[in-house]
Amino acid sequence: RSAAIAAVTGYSSNQSPMNFRETPTGDLFNNNVFSKKVMKKRLPKEIYKKLVRTIEDGEKLDCSTADVVASAIKDWAIEKGATHYAHVFYPLTGSTAEKHDSFLSPDGEGSAIAEFSGSQLIQGEPDGSSFPTGGIRATFEARGYTIWDVTSSAYILENSNGTTLCIPTAFVSWTGEALDKKTPVLRSMQALNTQAQRILKLFGHEDGDLVSSTAGPEQEYFLIDRNFYYARPDLLTAGRTLFGAKPPKGQEFDDHYFGAIPDRVLAFMFEAERELFKLGIPVKTRHNEVAPGQYEIAPQFESANIATDHQQLLMTTLRRTAEKHGMVCLTHEKPFAGVNGSGKHVNWSLGSASQGNLLDPGDTPHENAQFLLFCAAVIRAVHKYQGLLRAVVASASNDHRLGANEAPPAIISIFLGDQLTDVFEQIKAGGANSSIPKGTLTVGADVLPPLPKDAGDRNRTSPFAFTGNRFEFRAVGANQSIAGPLVAMNTIVADSLEFCANRLEEATGGDPDKLHAELQKLLTEIMNEHGSIVFNGDGYSEEWHAEAARRGLLNLKTTVDALPILESEDVKTLFTKHKVLSERELASRLETYLEQYCMSISVEVNLTIKMAKTFIFPAVIRYQSELVSNCANLKMLGYDFDTVTLDHVTDLVKILQDTIGELELAVSECESDDMLAEANHSCNVLLPIMNKVRAIADELEGIVADDLWPLPTYQEMLFIK
Ligand code: ADP
Ligand code: MG
Repeated sequence: RSAAIAAVTGYSSNQSPMNFRETPTGDLFNNNVFSKKVMKKRLPKEIYKKLVRTIEDGEKLDCSTADVVASAIKDWAIEKGATHYAHVFYPLTGSTAEKHDSFLSPDGEGSAIAEFSGSQLIQGEPDGSSFPTGGIRATFEARGYTIWDVTSSAYILENSNGTTLCIPTAFVSWTGEALDKKTPVLRSMQALNTQAQRILKLFGHEDGDLVSSTAGPEQEYFLIDRNFYYARPDLLTAGRTLFGAKPPKGQEFDDHYFGAIPDRVLAFMFEAERELFKLGIPVKTRHNEVAPGQYEIAPQFESANIATDHQQLLMTTLRRTAEKHGMVCLTHEKPFAGVNGSGKHVNWSLGSASQGNLLDPGDTPHENAQFLLFCAAVIRAVHKYQGLLRAVVASASNDHRLGANEAPPAIISIFLGDQLTDVFEQIKAGGANSSIPKGTLTVGADVLPPLPKDAGDRNRTSPFAFTGNRFEFRAVGANQSIAGPLVAMNTIVADSLEFCANRLEEATGGDPDKLHAELQKLLTEIMNEHGSIVFNGDGYSEEWHAEAARRGLLNLKTTVDALPILESEDVKTLFTKHKVLSERELASRLETYLEQYCMSISVEVNLTIKMAKTFIFPAVIRYQSELVSNCANLKMLGYDFDTVTLDHVTDLVKILQDTIGELELAVSECESDDMLAEANHSCNVLLPIMNKVRAIADELEGIVADDLWPLPTYQEMLFIK
């Protein structure tokens, strides 16, 4: 531990400073991407047009076109120094997987030639059984395919020793079932487009422009020095600290949030952003977050599928770049107890080229019928499928965050803000005639100009908040893929839009003059039935928990409570009806996520036992021995003294040993074939005992001599840079 501290305080960067004057970051944007601009330059006109039609309108790609495209991508990649290509895919683990192949093949005459055919571009064949499949694939039925996702551009990934061409792909089994996170995103976007087109048609918009869901994820993360990280087996293996007393100073002073960014961290951010820019990821915002050592990065929003791929790439890039700067980027939802955890706010909307953002209310939302319909569809969807939204953010690590006083409660509700709440209240009462005007903000100092004011304040405690022209899903965890939450939002809104389209098509019989009156009726009905999901107050308060229960809203506190929702008839019907997930695919996901939950807790339990026995216990008995010999010496010299500290330490050692024993016994009792039973045992038996072991160890940390304590402390990890 002291070596780690010395290494950290003696750190000096070996990175040469970046020269932004010579190569402005703007010039680097998309530099490593096989973008439309590159395609246009390198592909024959006809082929380029065909490819764009595939990308934009989903037209099928034929093999001869694929061959030409593959050859162009290969030439471009080799010019950029690539030696290998990789089909990149997104298995259910939530991480990114890649299988690398060399471009080179022997030519049979003693040399090797670079080859890359259309079929190699379009299709790959990794082992399908080595990834979690939740029972879809047995080990002996290993075939799985990766299929090029034309809508997500290929890119070059640079490493200090070489570069690789990366091709984003979907990953499916030999039977065509989704084994990954991308496939359902694409299907859900398709479902959303289908239903949104019907609504737009009712409003007389038949331009056929694709309606796409958009996503802007804000990523929170911690940075700590790598020397501390490697001295903590818990961080290294579980991604979070399983021990560690609260530091004397935590985040109480609120002096970190939006504070000046430390130099070393800023150097990291500059480099990470530059790398992300080269990959075409439009990062925009960076700032310190609430907890010490915590930061945020947010790109500009993109189409949901691209945003999802970019989000994965962003997490990888943060980790890689942190390493270069001698730090580690932690994306776990709760690396440190007692200070805030990390979330990933997913901003979500839908729109098309001709219609723009369909959730933009304009200045007078009460007159914007189309907006009101889309917004009401979201309200209905969130109310009807609140359990699903909770289930898609459920994980062992996110459980530490949700429901605490730092992140939204486990109860899903919608914050609408004053202006929209007022409009929808009017609708509920029969019709909306006015919108609260935006107004002007005056501060009372003449030197400060008056500003146009937003229609409503913000609410940081809501899990699902309307933020002016989009919804922000704030319960998503920092370490999660945003695919699951996006699939859920796209599909439940598609379902609501379908409900509205069915009703309006039938009620108007295609007569546009009847639309307004029928819409009014429909909106009133939706608000009467689903308005109880709207809540603008303090989501952290006790009163809200009671009020939510009165309203009949779900309060699914843990992953074990939330995941079984994926088995409910409602959810099965939802996903099968919109062809997003078959029953088997859905069941496989439930199985996989329960298994992941059990495995995470099992790893943590084993680590807790091991660290308590081999780190904490030895340190404590060393200290106890010092106290004992001190007491013996004092006694020998005839001093009068008491043994309070020794007694206290001795008591705690006994409790520590007993509790470790209790935990070991509980682990052995958890043999079950039923995954849900095992998850329940993990949640309700193992976790509480683990917390008990920690509480004793943390108390001991405050008593044992500092020089004997083996683990870097919270104070050191969070404050020494
Ligand atoms: P804040 O922290 O104030 O909520 P940020 O600027 O950190 O806001 O992040 C807001 C995110 O919302 C950005 O990624 C932004 O691009 C995204 N966003 C804005 N408009 C839309 C939209 N129509 N659809 C999806 N995301 C959007
Ligand atoms: Mg933000």
